[in-house]
Amino acid sequence: MFKGVLSKMRTELDQSLIYFLELGDDFLISDYLINKEIRFKFLGFSCLKCSSEEEIFRQGHCKKCFFESPSTAEWVIRPELSKAHLNIQDRDIDYEKRIQLQPHILYLSFTDDVKIGVTRKSQLPTRWIDQGAINAIEVAELPNRYLAGLCEVELKKYYKDKTNWRAMLKANKSEIDLSQEKLNAKKYLPSDLKKYYNSTSLVKEIAYPLENKLDSPKSINIKKLKDFKGKLIGIKGQYLIFEDQSVFNIRSNEGLVVEMELN
Ligand SMILES: [Zn+2]
Repeated sequence: MFKGVLSKMRTELDQSLIYFLELGDDFLISDYLINKEIRFKFLGFSCLKCSSEEEIFRQGHCKKCFFESPSTAEWVIRPELSKAHLNIQDRDIDYEKRIQLQPHILYLSFTDDVKIGVTRKSQLPTRWIDQGAINAIEVAELPNRYLAGLCEVELKKYYKDKTNWRAMLKANKSEIDLSQEKLNAKKYLPSDLKKYYNSTSLVKEIAYPLENKLDSPKSINIKKLKDFKGKLIGIKGQYLIFEDQSVFNIRSNEGLVVEMELN
């Protein structure tokens, strides 16, 4: 039996994609978990930042930490609001400089449709795996988060920037040529930022440990159910996928204390 606080699964993409589910002092590897009967039991909450047992508000944080922590500020979701390059503090200027003032990638990815996004260069391909992208390509490399955000604001006029989780889980192939789409995207970059366009990037394909095709995935609400069990058949994005097509989103349940039993 394992017990711990849920947090985003780490991944390693080498020959194949491997997930690591961390619970307490244990690291469970996807190859070991898949095809096993798993039972999850909801025990309570533990804020990822302060370990408070208050109910999780958002992104694994209690309400207080969500509104105070530098890692949940609005510029995280909206990079164009970044201000560290101006030496202006939002919540914690040291943190903001460390995160914002480093190379950022503007990319196109295919989850269930083509979408535009921004991430730190050091976060690739992790960011693509977390969103369940089938493939993705770098469009431009910007020297900081703010400039990447300016590009994204323009590109959002032509591409989606959100993923429909149900459609993402159902999709198992891309019909879009992303290298062609990258050429289109170049046209939409702000003219003074076109010099950051990446002309040599190639499409990265990502294969998930999931053989079955899903028709009607349904989301598991562990807080309501208190416990559930099922045979794990695969993982995509941050979703554990069970034989009866129910899916458990580890990301949106960060900060929940659970017990896990394997059979
Ligand atoms: Zn907290």
